[in-house]
Amino acid sequence: MHILLAASELHPWSKTGGLADAVAALGQALARAGCRVTMVTPLYRGIRARAEKLGGLVDAGWPFSVPLGATLMDGRFWKLQPEPNLEIWFVENDGYYDRAGIYNEAHLEYPDNAERFLFLSKAALLLARHLPDPPELIHAHDWQAGLIPLLVRHGSLQEGWVRAPKTIFTIHNLAYQGTFPLATWAQTNVPPAWLHLDSASHYNQVSFLKAGLTLADALSTVSPTYAREICTPEYGCGLDGLLRRRSHDLVGILNGVDYGEWNTTRNPALGAHFDADHLAGKALVKAALQKELGLPVRADLPLFTNITRLTDQKGADLLLEALIAELPGGRFQFALLGSGDAELEAEYRQLALDFPHQVAARIGFDPALAHRLEAAADFYVMPSRFEPCGLNQMYSLRYGAVPIVRATGGLQDSVVDPREDLELANGIKFHEASSTALAAALRKALALYAVPEGLAHFRANGMTADHSWDQAAIQYLAMYEDVLHGP
Ligand code: ADP
Repeated sequence: MHILLAASELHPWSKTGGLADAVAALGQALARAGCRVTMVTPLYRGIRARAEKLGGLVDAGWPFSVPLGATLMDGRFWKLQPEPNLEIWFVENDGYYDRAGIYNEAHLEYPDNAERFLFLSKAALLLARHLPDPPELIHAHDWQAGLIPLLVRHGSLQEGWVRAPKTIFTIHNLAYQGTFPLATWAQTNVPPAWLHLDSASHYNQVSFLKAGLTLADALSTVSPTYAREICTPEYGCGLDGLLRRRSHDLVGILNGVDYGEWNTTRNPALGAHFDADHLAGKALVKAALQKELGLPVRADLPLFTNITRLTDQKGADLLLEALIAELPGGRFQFALLGSGDAELEAEYRQLALDFPHQVAARIGFDPALAHRLEAAADFYVMPSRFEPCGLNQMYSLRYGAVPIVRATGGLQDSVVDPREDLELANGIKFHEASSTALAAALRKALALYAVPEGLAHFRANGMTADHSWDQAAIQYLAMYEDVLHGP
């Protein structure tokens, strides 16, 4: 089976969040399972230089132009082939992609994001249509690739594209919908009659996400609980009616973890190594991190960490309030790595100034520090208001950091609370999205820390849990088979 994966982020080449990790790991897992995999993604600034170490990008010898409305826009493909049956096709257009950010700069969205990702989608279509061995299926990810199902359908019904591929659209986060003014439609070069309530039209705007949701042959999202949640008004971001109508075509498949990268036994980001049976290295990593962050080196105090986009979604405000309540007199330390909302960034910086012996806040994006924060932590806090899948709680499990999570989306599906199953418990869950509910969960964690056998039990369960991608790939393959050949 030949699958084309289209996404705006691809780890390790570009990343703002879990999308990059998920698409890259899915591609590799599908290739391991015997599929031929082609991935298409933008050639952002810096990728070419970083690819040099792997032998460099190869010019695919395919300069192309695609229409965006009345303008013909030029691009080029550059290829990288990490494995025999896995190719990455980078789309070059320096005007669109050679920029400091992926979607924004200095907290401002790029004003031409619609055009930038429509260009990516049209480049993906060109590949799908003209590769000598074309894909049977295009798997498009998130709003940036949402127009692909629409463009494929238009190509097949109106432009004589015989044997056009089937399409699958995956929602990594329903809150980001890619909605733009109606005038954007002209750049699709699809007739105006195709823009209606059962395609991309949404409250008098063009919604890239809705185009994917309405026109893909099948839909998926990144956890079973989120698949159910998004069919409700509370989590549906205004699209729950549509998702309920398509619920028979929607599956939830929990993302996996790339244990090749996220491991504690041969990880270059960590100064010492450990596993479930040998925890001495974890204590060393904790001491080194406390020193690195300027916190007192105290083995006796539990260390809580959080690595996050600082947004409402992640409950960064709830955590701040809970910490302000619990820190005075509290016998614990907290370390944050995050960036995002400017006000929250300032508030976390202030928290570190107010509690210098208990709190460290690093504002920025630092993958190596993220590994150390997971490895050093006794507890990892993830109080998300909603969480399509979430990766950090699964990294935490493997790294021996007991996750404290709100029971939603992928957090609900990957963490076991003692009230659900005492024998298999590996984390602490709370339900209400409030700082008081979170503070109560933090106090439970402190109580657990005071009982070393209890902590060891949670830790051992977490560190031996298996959330590998091969499991997820089997479910995606079953979905692909259904779409291609019927259930
Ligand atoms: P989301 O995609 O909603 O941001 P996920 O938990 O699915 O959340 O994935 C987040 C990914 O991004 C994880 O790999 C996490 O470690 C990483 N990440 C988030 N913020 C930072 C940061 N400031 N520095 C380094 N890595 C980060």
